[in-house]
Amino acid sequence: MRKDRILICEDEREIVSFLRAELLHAGYAVDTAYDGETALRLLAKQDCDLVLLDLMLPQKSGLEVLQSVRGDGLRIPVIVITARKDSFDKVLLLKSGADDYVTKPFDTLELLARIERNLERGRRADGETYELRDLRVDYAGFTAAIGGKALPLTKTEFEILFCLMKNMRRVLGREQILGRIYGDFLGNSNVVDVNVKNIRRKIAALTSDSYIETVRGKGYVAR
Ligand code: CA
Repeated sequence: MRKDRILICEDEREIVSFLRAELLHAGYAVDTAYDGETALRLLAKQDCDLVLLDLMLPQKSGLEVLQSVRGDGLRIPVIVITARKDSFDKVLLLKSGADDYVTKPFDTLELLARIERNLERGRRADGETYELRDLRVDYAGFTAAIGGKALPLTKTEFEILFCLMKNMRRVLGREQILGRIYGDFLGNSNVVDVNVKNIRRKIAALTSDSYIETVRGKGYVAR
């Protein structure tokens, strides 16, 4: 399974090493650029899934990097990192194509949740579809089908099934699933159990094959 690749563009070395460690720990692949020129060079040659972009960068500012990326038609999600003391124009940032921003000092869990949510959006924009035997889940059409027969799901059921299919053969905990769907870790993880139960019932109405397994003490896996 390919890891999502995140480019950190930030000139404060302590922040970079801290972020790098956190992101590696969270299972991402990480590239770093300490200035705007390097960031653009890496983005041009490296297949990257998300950019964390500091605004105050040497050589080219974060805003210039952002404008250049969007000018080249790259749709990669960009989360801007700003310092509270920087005067910055939120509207200009968003108009320039930033997907999200965080203010330093930021909360690591919040940043990780924002990263996950923006990666998710990026994937959805790609209109991903996933197939496992006869089951096919298509995000663009927001549809799921088994052997061509529609699997009628509620929005939350669909999101959960999509999340499991996207991470096929990888066990996901209930909190992980919630985090990927809602972008935070709030909410009752019981929601996942209830919805999985419903998805299984609906799958069972169409086939004897089971696609979602429970891994005791861990969570769920599509396989
Ligand atoms: Ca900076």
